[in-house]
Amino acid sequence: MSSRQATAIIDLDAIRHNFDQAKQRAPASKVMAVVKADAYGHGASKVAQALVGADAFGVARVSEAVKLRESGIGQPICLLEGVSDLEELNLASVYELQVVLHNWEQLELLASRGARRHVWVKVDTGMGRLGFSVEETPSVLQKLGHQGLLGLMTHLADTGDKRSTTTGHQIDRITSLANSLAVPGSEVLSIANSGGVLALHKPPGDWVRPGLMLYGASPFDDLDPIPSLHAAMSFGAPVIAIRSIRQGESVGYGGIWTADQDSTIAVVAVGYADGYPREIAQGAPVLVNGVRYPLVGRVSMDLICIQLDDSHSTKTHSVKVGDRAILWGDDLPVEEIADKAGTIPYTLLCGVTARVNRQHRGNSRG
Ligand SMILES: *Cc1c(COP(=O)(O)O)cnc(C)c1O
Repeated sequence: MSSRQATAIIDLDAIRHNFDQAKQRAPASKVMAVVKADAYGHGASKVAQALVGADAFGVARVSEAVKLRESGIGQPICLLEGVSDLEELNLASVYELQVVLHNWEQLELLASRGARRHVWVKVDTGMGRLGFSVEETPSVLQKLGHQGLLGLMTHLADTGDKRSTTTGHQIDRITSLANSLAVPGSEVLSIANSGGVLALHKPPGDWVRPGLMLYGASPFDDLDPIPSLHAAMSFGAPVIAIRSIRQGESVGYGGIWTADQDSTIAVVAVGYADGYPREIAQGAPVLVNGVRYPLVGRVSMDLICIQLDDSHSTKTHSVKVGDRAILWGDDLPVEEIADKAGTIPYTLLCGVTARVNRQHRGNSRG
């Protein structure tokens, strides 16, 4: 495949290393590896095939689960938002998917079919989004008839903030609920996301559900890279032109950057249509041959510009047309770029678009 286009090189060994980190931090728990949104942009089938040690996979949409099954994934696959109609329920049976049950409409749907399902009951302990309240959970379990109950699931709302007290309250709520129930299966708990796995001394629950950390990025608001994780994605694109710009000339749409000295500019074939955000700040670093160069001018749909030198520079640059510029990856943490774009690593990784070629490296089978 041509390197003359934006490419996301995905290191499957790094993903396996990060998975092992999750296992080490939660040695008593099973791991549901979260591979929704095409494994946060990393290619869900390839990632799932590489994670032979995963006890299950978590996805958000039925279509995501079907793709995994069709690529030969045999481990349990959980629909984290469950099913919304009969068609999805049928697909869940055909493809043997676990379903999360989070509202009364879904409960009626499941009851109408009467078949034995593999169901997680979602409890809202403080996220305020999906799930039954702690108070209504006992009657949900009663109506469900606790056939095929896999356990109780809850989602932590504030693990981005390592000092938040919300996390502890949520864990207390789900644990005391589980202790008060005498329904088979309700003692099995699934609680921690990446933030919980990484921040809690002993991540609680029989299952953990790491997503972002598998891809080597930090879920924390401080945006400090986590040294024990390995970045799985190297997002890069070729330099397609090198230009001399005179003092006073502008670069890109709107002329938002004007050279204050005669300068050399490299044009890189990547833009917001590839998932390099337009919101990114002027001066954001782009790496070429191990050297950081500042972004200058507006990010356009297909192109960005970086400044290689100006007439003050003492060193001459060695960048050539065809060199690979790295937008984020090894030596240029996605956390740093997220900070420059006023966002979080999640949106950057998930935002790499379909036209970007994914190349997987590393042993694909454990
Ligand atoms: C996305 C998701 C996760 C994974 O979250 P990370 O912060 O990426 O680790 C876990 N559980 C549920 C229910 C999710 O939707």
